[in-house]
Amino acid sequence: MGLTNASVGRRAIGSAPALSPDSPSHCVVALAGNPNVGKSTVFNALTGMHQHTGNWPGKTVSSAQGVTRFHDRVYSLVDIPGTYSLLAHSPEEAVARDYICFESPDVVIVVCDATALERNLNLVLQIMEVHSHVVVCVNLLDEAKRKRINVDLVALEDWLGVRVVGCIARKKKSLAGLMQAVEAELTAKPNPCRAKIPYPDVIERALRYPMHALEKVDLDDMDARWLALKLLDQDENLYASIEARLGNSLLTLPDLQESLEDAWAELCNEGVDAEALHDLVATA
Ligand code: GDP
Repeated sequence: MGLTNASVGRRAIGSAPALSPDSPSHCVVALAGNPNVGKSTVFNALTGMHQHTGNWPGKTVSSAQGVTRFHDRVYSLVDIPGTYSLLAHSPEEAVARDYICFESPDVVIVVCDATALERNLNLVLQIMEVHSHVVVCVNLLDEAKRKRINVDLVALEDWLGVRVVGCIARKKKSLAGLMQAVEAELTAKPNPCRAKIPYPDVIERALRYPMHALEKVDLDDMDARWLALKLLDQDENLYASIEARLGNSLLTLPDLQESLEDAWAELCNEGVDAEALHDLVATA
C-alpha cells in the first residue's frame, strides 16, 4: 500500500534519508481531534511509534512528533493534544489551537469518533474555519458497526466540502486511504470556502469593521474573519501567538484599533458586552 514507517522522534525528522524537512516533498501533517477518538492510535500506526513525548517551546504540555513515508513523500506527523474546541479552556486546548492556527501545518487531519460524530463535528467546523487543507478521518467504524450506527461518508464529504475517510485505526491497513487523501489534499488548491460559522446579526455587523481594516494587511494566509473575531473577543492569550506570526505592528495598527472601537460601539449599542459576546460566539 506504499505506507511505511520512517524513523521516530523529533531528531529523526531531520535525519530522514534522502528527503530533508526542507525538501518540497517533506510535509507537515497535524493530527487533531477530541480526546479519546483514537488519534494516538492513528499516529502510532502511521509512525510505528508508541507515543514519543516532546516538549513544545515555551509550554509544559507535551505532544508527539514522528515521521511516515507514503509514496514519494516524507510526512512529519504532529499529534497535538486532544481538544473539544479551538476556544481553548485549558493549556492543552491552547496548545492545540495555537498549533493549528499559527504553525501552518500543510494539512490538518481531524480524527473523529464515528459513534459520536455530531459532537466531533464541532471541532471539525472550527478547524475548517481557520485552515484550508483539512481531511476528516472518521475512526472507530468497527465500534459504530457494533452499535448499528451507519455513517454515510459520501454524504458527509458532500456536506462538509472536504475529504472524508473512514478507518479502523487499530487496523493499520485501513490508514492507506487516509494517507491517500492527505496526499491528494497537498496537491489540491486551498479550499476557497473555509467553513463560515454564522454568528448572530449583531456580531456579523460588528465584524465588518475589523475585517475591513484587515483587508489591507498581509495576513500570511490567515483567515481575516477568524482573526477579526478573536481581536473583538479580546482573547489576550492569543496576542503573543498573533504577534509571533504576523508581527506586533498589526495589533498597534491605528486603522485596526479604530475599527475595533467602532465594532465595540456597535455591540454596546445592542447591549452586547464582552461576556455576552463570548457566550454568543461559543453558542454559534
Ligand atoms: P486519543 O485520546 O484520541 O489519542 O485515543 P487513543 O488512540 O488513545 O484511543 C483510545 C482508545 O480507543 C484506545 O483504547 C484505542 O485502542 C481505541 N481505538 C482507537 N482506534 C480504534 C478503532 O478504530 N477501533 C476500536 N475498536 N478501538 C480503537
